[in-house]
Amino acid sequence: MSATPSSTSLRPTETVLQGIPAVAGVQYAPVIRPGARPTVDDGSAAAAVDESNRQGEAARFTTAAAAVAERLRDRAAHASGAASEVLATTATLAQDRAWIAATEKRIGEGNPAVRAVTAAVDQFVTMFTQLGGLMAERVTDLRDIRDRVIAELNGLPEPGVPVPEVPSILCADDLAPVDTAGLDPALVVALATTLGGPTSHTAIIARQLGIPCVVAVGGLDAVPAGTMVMVDGSSGTVTVEPDEAVARRAVELARGQAELARSWHGPGATADGHAVAILANVQDGAAARAASQTPAEGVGLFRTELCFLNRSTEPSVDEQAEIYGEVLGAFDGRKVVIRTLDAGSDKPLKFVGHPDEANPALGVRGIRIADGNPGILTRQLEGIAAAARATGSAPWVMAPMIATPAEAKAFADETRSHGLTPGVMIEVPAAALLADRILEHVDFLSIGTNDLTQYTMAADRMSAELATLTDPWQPAVLALVAIAAKAGVAVGKPVGVCGEAAADPQLACVLVGLGVSSLSAAAAAVSGVGAKLAQVTLAQCREAADAALATATAADARAAASAVLS
Ligand code: PEP
Ligand code: MG
Repeated sequence: MSATPSSTSLRPTETVLQGIPAVAGVQYAPVIRPGARPTVDDGSAAAAVDESNRQGEAARFTTAAAAVAERLRDRAAHASGAASEVLATTATLAQDRAWIAATEKRIGEGNPAVRAVTAAVDQFVTMFTQLGGLMAERVTDLRDIRDRVIAELNGLPEPGVPVPEVPSILCADDLAPVDTAGLDPALVVALATTLGGPTSHTAIIARQLGIPCVVAVGGLDAVPAGTMVMVDGSSGTVTVEPDEAVARRAVELARGQAELARSWHGPGATADGHAVAILANVQDGAAARAASQTPAEGVGLFRTELCFLNRSTEPSVDEQAEIYGEVLGAFDGRKVVIRTLDAGSDKPLKFVGHPDEANPALGVRGIRIADGNPGILTRQLEGIAAAARATGSAPWVMAPMIATPAEAKAFADETRSHGLTPGVMIEVPAAALLADRILEHVDFLSIGTNDLTQYTMAADRMSAELATLTDPWQPAVLALVAIAAKAGVAVGKPVGVCGEAAADPQLACVLVGLGVSSLSAAAAAVSGVGAKLAQVTLAQCREAADAALATATAADARAAASAVLS
């Protein structure tokens, strides 16, 4: 069991910093911090490069960029899986023709290399930021490359994470993908960041490495390297200079929990035998095949839009059928819930032709794209139906961002006309409130707690400043989940949860107590959730749910549930 602020005895010197839990687990170790990034002096004070030296200056730049790329490629060769991919992608970006040419052009105009690098990166940062979505996320990578190339040009050590001599906890403002990708989980045993949210890149990598992680930790900046801290990825706390014996006991308890998770093989059920399907969230065939190696009983959310983020033209029905068929094939005959394109907002798709909107999270996204472009949904359903026929599967199909029973009915009618089983996501408070009327039209519901939290709390899920609001333990969010789950129980139709909330073992028990019938989470979280659920009774889950619902803050909801479930 993880320590929580309420269960950790406070000593006069220790301080508990509150952040947002991202990956469960407890570690106690000294802090390390990434090496300082070079101050981005654009070199404007430096004199223009004499015409006769410009070629040499350009060569100095290309050599530096090549050295940076080479080092990244070398690290990629020694890493594996997602880490290797991130490093290789960043290496490619360091050699990207467009930015190399933009830099060389500036050097050709007489700018010193450092100034040219800074200006060229600024140009691309502005462009990517304006494009938004995934492109905007590359901005951190671009700045990272800029810093590495400038350090190389100035003969300084490469910025980034030092290799510690003893197991350590890496604390930083935020981490560039390339920094987190090369981490050795035996030496960097936990992560804590001042910025970022539970779905940030740092959290995703920590989950893959299997190390605890807390993000958006207030006051973390003031904790210097070398300080002993305890990171609790379940309660979202960083305890500075805790009592050593208490900290080591908490680490041992968490390790026991992790071992239980490793020995859990499903199927999902409470200790007293109440069945709850434990499913995986996937984004393509490869992820589905990986998930099929875990105890996941099926796929609770296949995010189809993630297959097409780089496409400028709509994939054909046949192409879609092939892609969907890969996921169905990986879970051969078992439950797979396919979500129709959730395009828009933070996941724009070029071929959808999104309107220019001031507030895309409240705009034409999810099912709403079908209004102006009904053919896209029809062709996707044709693709899913073809994949179902080809694999002999019977997938369930759900629509994202449903707000009204009328939208649910229209989607259900069309989905049934393709011989498929329709459901909808509950991500909008209006849909949660009218879940009973929506269930008159569809066969199941799946609660997307990421967006449900964003829209309930009126807080952007990407905002680090608002991370306390975008916490699915918020009692207001739990109250809406309770309404939707109760509506399902009343008519005997399944209501699952497929947002990040289902990846938190304690919260998963609370969701079961509220009445949900399945939990779908990142594959890495499946065992932890299943193992935790197997240790508690349905009555405990219900008691924890009632206790959490009766609170007024997310922190109190966590503590109240923990008191019942621990
Ligand atoms: C959700 O909103 O909880 C969800 C599962 O959908 P996504 O995270 O893809 O928006
Ligand atoms: Mg969503």
